[in-house]
Amino acid sequence: MSPFVYPDQPHVRQHGPQGYRDLGSFRPWLRDEFSFRCVCCLRREAWDRAVSLEIDHFLPQSRVPELGLQYDNLLYLCSRCNAAKGVQQIPDPTKALFAGAVTVQTDGQIVGHTDEARRMVLALRMNAPDAVHFRRLWIEIVTLAARFAPAGSWATLTTYRTWRG
Ligand SMILES: [Zn+2]
Repeated sequence: MSPFVYPDQPHVRQHGPQGYRDLGSFRPWLRDEFSFRCVCCLRREAWDRAVSLEIDHFLPQSRVPELGLQYDNLLYLCSRCNAAKGVQQIPDPTKALFAGAVTVQTDGQIVGHTDEARRMVLALRMNAPDAVHFRRLWIEIVTLAARFAPAGSWATLTTYRTWRG
């Protein structure tokens, strides 16, 4: 019952919109593509209005301007992960963190099982105290909600709509 289970396969793009002249037009596609959550830390849009989700250029526009409006080069990241990433060149998180490369423990720590995953965890400061605390809090909230709200009740449905996205 953890909200931090990473996809068990590398991500294959479901959408491929083209022809937009502004970055914002890609947002609805990216939200759906990545299930309304941060690709790196799995923080959901619905959890926390203080941390926004942002469109990120995987290969930075400053280096590869021709990919600025290329859908396959766009990721959906929370503002925390985006700020931690900064100008670092990180591995593609849809491969480096997916398919069993990491697990999140019940204490909120994230464990990388490959060199690439461990590099990502360090690069994005994913085991910094605030990040661990945040994961642990949401693991406990979702676990408690599941335990105390009867299956099929309004509270359970609302909980899942709100917190599981
Ligand atoms: Zn994030």
